[in-house]
Amino acid sequence: MTGWRILAVTCAGPAPTALDAAHRPLLLVFPADASGEALAGAFAAEHDAAVLGRVSDIRREGQTLFVSRSTHGGRLALDLKVTPCLAVATANDPQGVDGTITLGAPETLPVERTSLEQASVSLEAAKVVIGGGRGLDPDSFAALERIAAAVGGAVAASLPAVDLGLAPVARQVGQSGKFVNPAIYFAAGMSGTPQHFAGVGARARIVALNTDAHAPIFGFAHAGAVADAREVLPLVAAALEAKRETHA
Ligand SMILES: Cc1cc2nc3c(=O)[nH]c(=O)nc-3n(C[C@H](O)[C@H](O)[C@H](O)COP(=O)(O)OP(=O)(O)OC[C@H]3O[C@@H](n4cnc5c(N)ncnc54)[C@H](O)[C@@H]3O)c2cc1C
Repeated sequence: MTGWRILAVTCAGPAPTALDAAHRPLLLVFPADASGEALAGAFAAEHDAAVLGRVSDIRREGQTLFVSRSTHGGRLALDLKVTPCLAVATANDPQGVDGTITLGAPETLPVERTSLEQASVSLEAAKVVIGGGRGLDPDSFAALERIAAAVGGAVAASLPAVDLGLAPVARQVGQSGKFVNPAIYFAAGMSGTPQHFAGVGARARIVALNTDAHAPIFGFAHAGAVADAREVLPLVAAALEAKRETHA
């Protein structure tokens, strides 16, 4: 048996007529962004490939492949030993790959696409970022979108909120997500971990909303309220929308 071949995937252009997967075992590493995640899933389904998820480290020890990934909101790190096969993963800037391969953009595969955002402001450029964490639910995230639209901001999410499917991975801010540098960062249902706030610029004024008065975020937030975000966020959204209509 020959060893693992590892290829970084560039998502562009039409789908290839046939993937040269003659060399097995083969790991394809897609970008850890919305397009990459979508294409990786579609590719795995179509080619019956093993799905390794979003990995932080890939290494070969002799003929054996190991990948690392975090789980449970980063509280556990998993080292996975991968049985020889065709496998897919996603990663930011994968190291030690043998080459690159271009695969079709998600439009060329049977992928159901949903809009990432209604707001036109990009997360990285937003002056106001409205962040949601594990304490929220789908309705609260919908209220965050309404608030962002009303103030011209963008919605962000913590890693656990992304893991729970409350927001797409492209919205994740933090150590393993995006870096944002807004003037105001509104954090609802987030405890205030260093891994999340590593992704928030130092100039941001932080406004926290949390049910727990002892949550660490209140130790560094500039303003905040102890309240149930699930109740408060729809009220804030409605008030901002009403104000906007009055001034329209
Ligand atoms: C290597 C590594 C990289 C990581 N990278 C990232 C990263 O990029 N981004 C990231 O976010 N995390 C990252 N993490 C995870 C990080 O350690 C935390 O697990 C995560 O940031 C916590 O997210 P959270 O604040 O949403 O959840 P929690 O810490 O669980 O906090 C939830 C908060 O919501 C509050 N709450 C509950 N219900 C309500 C309600 N109804 N209304 C208001 N408040 C409520 C709770 O009181 C609690 O304070 C990483 C971890 C590791 C180890």
